[in-house]
Amino acid sequence: MSGVIRNTNSLIEINPINKSAVILCSGGMDSSSLLALLVKHDFDILPITFNYGSKHNDAEFGALLKVCKFLKLRKPARIDISVMFTHFKSSLLQKDIEVPHGHYAEDNMKSTVVPGRNSIMLSIALGMAQSNDMSWIGIANHAGDAYQYPDCQKEYIDYLAGAFDVASEGKVRILSPFVNIDKSQIATIGNNCGLPLEMTWSCYEGNLEKGHCGLCGTCVERHWAMLKAGIKDKTGYQNDPRVNFTKQEKRDLGIE
Ligand SMILES: [Zn+2]
Repeated sequence: MSGVIRNTNSLIEINPINKSAVILCSGGMDSSSLLALLVKHDFDILPITFNYGSKHNDAEFGALLKVCKFLKLRKPARIDISVMFTHFKSSLLQKDIEVPHGHYAEDNMKSTVVPGRNSIMLSIALGMAQSNDMSWIGIANHAGDAYQYPDCQKEYIDYLAGAFDVASEGKVRILSPFVNIDKSQIATIGNNCGLPLEMTWSCYEGNLEKGHCGLCGTCVERHWAMLKAGIKDKTGYQNDPRVNFTKQEKRDLGIE
């Protein structure tokens, strides 16, 4: 399992000649903060993103274009895998299944899992890294993702990194510096790197005209993260995300 980098500090241990990375990006706060962090660490970056047919893909992609332009990165490669995902079931994909409102800790959020998503996207990123002679695949999975998304867990990424190490004869490794931190710490990193967080898109409903719904799991987590980090949240929400905070989160933030 050589070469698995597990935390932010280890970024400085990466040999400068190997500072090239394919980064999985969505236009959301986590992967955009990862981009900003790696720019700060002078990485040569190939941003890649996927159209997998989710309701919020287009809104995310618009945000990603803005983020890449702001960070002076090359235009992201957008890979269309939506045909594959028409065979998969998730509330993020099927128009007749509503995206649940509430907190990630709730059971109804399981419907937002997209089966196999990270496995498929990381495998494509491996091919992109090998094709472009890049040493790293960057992914912004974080500790809070583990509530509902098993393929974001550290254990899974570690196994996959071991498999990729074998598949690429040690040439491509996985960089997941946020795996042990939560979204509020990611917000702090993005903000400290100068990224305007309001430029990013989170909402699963993907309604660009109306803005973030404020009630789905990712809207709630986004707002909590910024409040916890002491960052002013400039996102335009249709509804106040605080109604779906847990009691503990309200207590932590001193709003109850
Ligand atoms: Zn939302």
